[in-house]
Amino acid sequence: MTQNTKKPVHWAVRLNHQNRSGSFVLLFTAIGAHMVSQGYSLLAWGLLTLQFLVYPHLMYWRARGARDAMQAELNNLVIDSLLFGIWAAALAFPVWITFTLVIGTTITHVLYLGLRGVWRSVAALAGGALATVTIAGLRLSPHTDGLTTLLCVVALLLYLLAFAHLAYLRTRMLRDTREKLRLREQTLHAANEALQRQFAEIHALQAQLSEQANRDPLTGLYNRRYLDPTLARELARCEREGQPLSLMLIDLDHFKQVNDSYGHPAGDEVLKNLAAMLNEQARAADVVCRYGGEEFLLVLPNMPAHIALVRADQWRAAFAATTVRFDKFQMQTTLSIGIATYPGHGASAEELIRHADRALYRAKSEGRDRVMLFQTETVVAIT
Ligand code: GH3
Ligand code: MG
Ligand code: MG
Repeated sequence: MTQNTKKPVHWAVRLNHQNRSGSFVLLFTAIGAHMVSQGYSLLAWGLLTLQFLVYPHLMYWRARGARDAMQAELNNLVIDSLLFGIWAAALAFPVWITFTLVIGTTITHVLYLGLRGVWRSVAALAGGALATVTIAGLRLSPHTDGLTTLLCVVALLLYLLAFAHLAYLRTRMLRDTREKLRLREQTLHAANEALQRQFAEIHALQAQLSEQANRDPLTGLYNRRYLDPTLARELARCEREGQPLSLMLIDLDHFKQVNDSYGHPAGDEVLKNLAAMLNEQARAADVVCRYGGEEFLLVLPNMPAHIALVRADQWRAAFAATTVRFDKFQMQTTLSIGIATYPGHGASAEELIRHADRALYRAKSEGRDRVMLFQTETVVAIT
């Protein structure tokens, strides 16, 4: 019981209770007026009171406690129609009262079930009337006096007005709900777009950060952090595909002197110049890295040693012919290059770098401004 009082009352139960108690009072008045004019017994008045003043609250109490409130209300509507059928027949079918009862209960059915409700209502009304006629016999007295007719008209009018108002409120509520939904959808859409934008920004920022972490700030070339995994990956790929891979280790000649003579910023300018040239000359698949202070390492996938030698020498010659301008200085510098090629000069990254370094060392010791290819026993020189 306490649970029932706490449970929120279903909207259909609440609405029907309001409708039923209001409209049944009107019916009580109209039928009561008729009964006065016809001189009905006290028992009939008792039944009238029970039906139209007590019954609505009993039905409310019944539907409120039901597990399926909507179904209970639909059943209540059928009971209403059945009882109205009994009342119409018991009163000998006074036209205005019968009409009011039929219209009232049928409209309520239509409110919940659409046109389907008409059949339920008519069937229950007919059932009630038929049962009464079967038990008590058919009596017909269609006439009602002026007061009863007026009360019936007023009752019907008020009931129809109440329904029209209800329909109006429902439509307005639906419109408001739709508008609220539309606004909420717009807000959601905007929030979603903002989120997408933020994701894109975060994504771009992440890409920028990882790019920055892999780049040398002075020259913009890749750094060793990027080189190590890239070289391992490229080596593995060349091994899989049975392709050669050349490594070029480049070191500026007498670079200390450049710094000493022109200053560190001038030396930086030379480094940037060489970096720009290497970047420009390298193929898309080549990886150009700043390996140390003034040392550069190039990973050249799919490049055999003899081609690497030719390209390296072109770069050497081009750089030797370049004049780097900084401030009032004009600087000309040379470079030495050591080359080692997979698979002939080594199978691992460490071995290949070590051998490229050994070739570079030979290039330095043989007089600089030259390219050396590592060889197992000897080193071949090109000048
Ligand atoms: P070598 O021909 O034998 O290579 O002679 P080197 O003078 O170039 O000798 P080494 O390779 O040992 O010298 C490297 C010099 O490069 C030392 C250092 O001052 C300079 N260096 C390293 N990093 C930078 C840099 O970022 N900027 C400048 N300007 N100089 C640098
Ligand atoms: Mg060096
Ligand atoms: Mg050097």
